Amino acid sequence: MRRRDRFVLDVFACARGAAFITAIAAITAITAIAAITAIAAVAGCSPRSDPARSAGSAAVPDAACLAYLAANHIPAVPVGETRGVRTPVRVTGALAGISLVSRAKREPIMDCALARGLYEAAPVFHALGVDTLEFSGAYDYRNRQGTDALSAHAHGLAIDVHVFGGRAGRLEVGRDFEAGVGEWRKLRPGPGRVAACVGHPTTPAGTTLRTLACRLKLTTAFHVIVSPDDNASHRDHLHLEVYADTAEPEAEPAVPAAPAAPAPTPDRP
Ligand SMILES: [Zn+2]
Repeated sequence: MRRRDRFVLDVFACARGAAFITAIAAITAITAIAAITAIAAVAGCSPRSDPARSAGSAAVPDAACLAYLAANHIPAVPVGETRGVRTPVRVTGALAGISLVSRAKREPIMDCALARGLYEAAPVFHALGVDTLEFSGAYDYRNRQGTDALSAHAHGLAIDVHVFGGRAGRLEVGRDFEAGVGEWRKLRPGPGRVAACVGHPTTPAGTTLRTLACRLKLTTAFHVIVSPDDNASHRDHLHLEVYADTAEPEAEPAVPAAPAAPAPTPDRP
């Protein structure tokens, strides 16, 4: 099952109860995903706020994700048990040419899934002349602002980026992001949606930054992008969030016991 499908199941279960999971399992259309996500948002719940996952450190590490990092030579090394994080890693170098620079000298500790998401999003950054992400925090065991639910940061699944740098220049979200000039909160994939999302910024930096945010929002590398268009607490950074693949290993099909071999006829003396 694809991660997005699993996410749909998680969100729907949270919003309407597990009894509907079977009915929704066949729904994979993007519009259905959007509708279900909206229902969950209205209900104020999220898979990441699931208390069962708050004890993520007890979960089995995501071996498939670690294998993905290794296979792609992604510079990230596993670290010891980290409260709330299923598969904690420390990023030790650039991810497909994208460097992470901490504003507060904090180590780039995160769940493997976020390192994978940043790696997969690298083409979007490069296309817009961005090769450096200046961030304030990634893993941070805390609640979401104003709630008693754990933030995605507590699971190492989100990073707050304040400045995007590279040949595009220094794009500061707090200074250059022009909020409210294009479609954002109801953005859905489709023809012409990036242009509608970018809208009509008044500066080149504003145009590049909105184009970046819109493309990131429409890529599958991340599942949630929160920007100044969403609320005042994100006026100076983009929150980039992935959802971990929480799949448990597929159960091996039961192998019926082989019929007992007939007892050999003892040789007669
Ligand atoms: Zn954040």
